[in-house]
Amino acid sequence: MGLSDVLAWWGAGWRVKVIAIIEYSICQQESDKYIIEQMALCQLMLIHFIEGGGFSGNIYIIDCEKPIMIDTGWDADLTFTGPQIDKALEGKKLDKIILTHRHVDHIGGALVIQEKFGGTMYAQKMEAEALRAGDNISTGGRTFGTKVVPMDVNDLEDNEIIDLEGGQILKVMVTPGHTIGSICLLSDDGNLFSGDTVFTQGGVGRWDFPTGDYDMLLESIERLAELSVKSLYPGHGMPAENIGLEHIRLGLRYLKEMGRHG
Ligand SMILES: [Zn+2]
Repeated sequence: MGLSDVLAWWGAGWRVKVIAIIEYSICQQESDKYIIEQMALCQLMLIHFIEGGGFSGNIYIIDCEKPIMIDTGWDADLTFTGPQIDKALEGKKLDKIILTHRHVDHIGGALVIQEKFGGTMYAQKMEAEALRAGDNISTGGRTFGTKVVPMDVNDLEDNEIIDLEGGQILKVMVTPGHTIGSICLLSDDGNLFSGDTVFTQGGVGRWDFPTGDYDMLLESIERLAELSVKSLYPGHGMPAENIGLEHIRLGLRYLKEMGRHG
């Protein structure tokens, strides 16, 4: 191999190296772009928690392109919750109001909130039927001395997907037991909004109200205990962030114990 051959070899080597570096750089840029896109898709869900006072259920607002409210508390509680809703929405209107079940401590504020902040109402179809009819018995209206007036509520089905836009979704899970059409909502990043089906600290929903059923509740919580739940956002009491599944499993254990003794 002569000097000219060696120089040619080095030259070719460098050319290959330069091409490789350019290709690597392009790949890296593409890869970075992909990661940034994925991060934008998987951005953390911004959840506002408004604790229900007294008998009132909790209110959750998911802050996204089209804000969603999960449960509305009791209308008697709105003087307390109204300013917090105002603050969370920062002038935006609600796109949807999703009701986890028919009970007055979760739906009582719906009409007033809808009037002020907008939002189309949704509930599982049997719950929606009771609310459209203004059923004062199974909603607990009569028991708690309040009147539930007919409301325009749309139907939700099991496994229905609610698109929050910006790459986030909520999956509807029908979890009967507390009421016949109670639902939970699960986000793709593991946030479970559980209504009165299961609470933190081992609490579970009552099954002795109209349309409630122990066996159904047990089956529903067993289903939830198999999910990849990161955080639990219940209808009453405090949420449990990052250890939601442990709370669900504790609730399941207590429910089994209660059934054995009841
Ligand atoms: Zn309830």
